[in-house]
Amino acid sequence: MHAMSGVAVIPRPVAVTSGAGALPISADTEVLADRDSAAAARLLASWLPAAAGPARRPRPLPPAPAPRRAPAPPGAIVLTTDTTRTDLGDEGYALSVAPQGATVTGGTPRGVLWGAQTLRQLLGPPGTATTLPAVDIVDHPRFAWRGLHLDVARHFFPVPFIERLIDLMALYKLNTFHWHLTEDQGWRIEIRSRPRLTETGARRAATPLPQDRTQTDDTSYAGHYTQDEVRRVVAYAGERGVTVVPEIEMPGHSQAALASYPELGCTGSGYEVATTWGIKSDVLCAGRETTFAFLEEVLEEVLELFPGPFIHVGGDECPKQAWRACAHCQARIASERLADEDELQSWFIRRMAGWLGGRGRGLGGLGGGVGGAAWGRRRRATMG
Ligand SMILES: [Zn+2]
Repeated sequence: MHAMSGVAVIPRPVAVTSGAGALPISADTEVLADRDSAAAARLLASWLPAAAGPARRPRPLPPAPAPRRAPAPPGAIVLTTDTTRTDLGDEGYALSVAPQGATVTGGTPRGVLWGAQTLRQLLGPPGTATTLPAVDIVDHPRFAWRGLHLDVARHFFPVPFIERLIDLMALYKLNTFHWHLTEDQGWRIEIRSRPRLTETGARRAATPLPQDRTQTDDTSYAGHYTQDEVRRVVAYAGERGVTVVPEIEMPGHSQAALASYPELGCTGSGYEVATTWGIKSDVLCAGRETTFAFLEEVLEEVLELFPGPFIHVGGDECPKQAWRACAHCQARIASERLADEDELQSWFIRRMAGWLGGRGRGLGGLGGGVGGAAWGRRRRATMG
């Protein structure tokens, strides 16, 4: 712990050795980076004191192996990706600050990004740093999945807020943003083949009062992200090493979808975007093929927007009243030789996991309907 004194980094790096002195930081401090580290260099440059004149630009390093490169100018910060540093793993980095200059080396571009975020913490608030403390850090994460979940369906947040959140996630090296985009209380992502999802499903007539959930405010509440906005967020996250996992709920938590396309429900009519919290008994019909055609159309667009390995489908909290009373759902139970409605829920999720698997993606979900198998198996495979 003694070696940690004077260096405050969250989460705590694997190894920290404080050195003597400090590296002066000024508007003249240069940032140099090889091609693979250019994204990290652009971010780092934005956190340094503003250079006079045109915006500060990182300088590219010549593409020679590090030992044969000319020495960096005094006082510069040099970022490099060294794929021979397999000891650092997928996300690790080595960072060294001395009075003569600083280096960040990652085994991958993502490792360099995390090293840059450590420098950002050492720099303090943007543009205020005058020195960096001399220190040697070697760091790699304990956990491959470091996530933050945000439900924008019940409470909508605009894109600048989302970007700020992702930027702060990256500051703390959280690498997975779980974006909960659909719910009973609102559908928040534009689907071009199904425009009513946002024309109708993105607006609810009222919202429960924070101080008394049994009462509502009778105020219309709406918001959604266009596909261009989604692309912007995914790109912004990607530049910071953050993967976005979209959550598209099924078969429960789908009342906003039912309000938009009532034929997706067992009774086929009478749905509205929910104005109260809690688990809703109106769910997607598991008997009709139109439900799966709908989900596949939606997910085709979602897959194009989100390049990450996982799509989260919720999958839990699916009351069975509607399925029990539905001839289509009962016919499905019979034709698939399922024991009951619980098995129908598992069949539903397995079917969607199979569809996603055929497109190279993993399904994430919660609770008994999913059984954890799809998510867990896929994650181990991805991480192994
Ligand atoms: Zn049904």
